[in-house]
This record gives sequence, C-alpha cells and structure tokens, in this order.
Amino acid sequence: MPTLAERYAAAYDQVQVATQKANRAAGSVKLLAVSKTKPVSDIEAVAALGQIDFGENYAQEAVEKAQKLSHLGLQWHFIGPIQSNKTRPLAEHMDWIHTVERDKIARRLNDQRPANLKPLNVCIQVNASAEPQKSGVSVAEIGPLAALIDELPQLQLRGLMAIVENTADQARLAQQFTLMAEQLELLQRNYPSVDTLSMGMTQDLQPAIHHGSTMVRIGTAIFGARQPKAAPEQ
Ligand SMILES: *Cc1c(COP(=O)(O)O)cnc(C)c1O
Repeated sequence: MPTLAERYAAAYDQVQVATQKANRAAGSVKLLAVSKTKPVSDIEAVAALGQIDFGENYAQEAVEKAQKLSHLGLQWHFIGPIQSNKTRPLAEHMDWIHTVERDKIARRLNDQRPANLKPLNVCIQVNASAEPQKSGVSVAEIGPLAALIDELPQLQLRGLMAIVENTADQARLAQQFTLMAEQLELLQRNYPSVDTLSMGMTQDLQPAIHHGSTMVRIGTAIFGARQPKAAPEQ
C-alpha cells in the first residue's frame, strides 16, 4: 500500500504531466486536495508536504476542520451543495465557495461574510451535462447570476465549476469540458476577476486539464477510497 505522502506526490505529478501534455504553462493548474470524510491528521500530513488548498463538501465538517486547523494558514474551499441555513458558518470560515447556483445563496453569503475578512471567492456551479438530478445552473443562467455576484461587495467572482457526467465516454466528457471552457472565456470578457475553471476529479483530471481546467479537485487519488456516509448530515 502506498503511503499518503506517496499518493500525494503521485497525484501532484499527474497534474504536472497532464499540464505539460496539454502544452499549458507550468503551474497553470492548481491541485485542490479534497479531504471530505478524512481525518484532520490526514490533512495535517498533506499540509506538511506543502499543500495549501483543501476542499470539503459537508458544511459542518468543513467548518470544524477549518477551525481546528486555523493555525496552519490553509485555504478552505467548499465544494458541496449549500442549504440556505448553512450559509453563515461557510461565509465565516471558508475562503472559496465553488457551488453557488442561486441568487438567494449568493446574497446570504455576501451579507454574512464578516467585514474584516477578504471577499469570499466564488465560482458558479454549472450543470454542464444537463442531467436532471445534477446541481448547477444552465448556461443561460450564468450571465444573470454572474452580474449579481459581481455587484455584491463581499463576494469576488472567480469563475465556473462543474461536476461533469460520471462516464468513461471520452467524447461526452470532451463536450462538457469544452462547453465549460467556452463559457469561462465569455465570462472573462466581462469580468476581469474571473480566472478559475474548477473541473476534473480523480477519474477525469487528464481530459479536464486538456480542455482548460485551472483547478482539479482530487480526493481518492490522494487520500484513498472513502467510506460511504451513513446518513446525510444536512
Ligand atoms: C468528492 C468530490 C471530489 C473528489 O472526487 P474524487 O473522485 O475522490 O477525486 C471532487 N469534486 C467534488 C464536488 C466532490 O464532491
């Protein structure tokens, strides 16, 4: 069994190799370490290797970990579904929210972001595969939500996020990643703060990077398989 340090090094390498193969600049793709369900000791171990950005997708767990590890100066990214009664702790303790998909959530995050903190970095989640059960706005809804976020002083619009279809069909993946890259480019024309395309996970990081991802969200490859959650906590 490889150690956590070995798995982290391998995942880090995979991102560098995919970046190079895509003829993209070194360092243009950030690795977000997705530590959901994993113990704080695993996060400390990976942070000790130089990793700064960590992703979580259960609100309570995200906030508890961020508080426990606040002395490490890490960047916390929330990548899970957001219920409106959970926005306050997220606004107070996260550095990034990747999953904004409603006006109401954007407004609450803005209103609840403490004035002494930097604006919260925000990505709009897009349902790139148009699967009915999936979270995220449609392409037509990106513009209006971006315009709202741009007006909210305690939010900084950084880009778009997608969880693409879980499929091995490379043509379908390519279509969804390409759609996202095109939408990011359109958004960048109107908003200079936009620089982030959050897409790609353990299974599809290579095609995601090939098609323009700037942030891959990697859990399993670094931390190993997760136990399924017994019951949803939110
Ligand atoms: C869990 C999760 C990931 C990481 O998935 P892996 O397949 O373990 O790399 C990425 N993005 C989101 C939104 C997730 O919930």
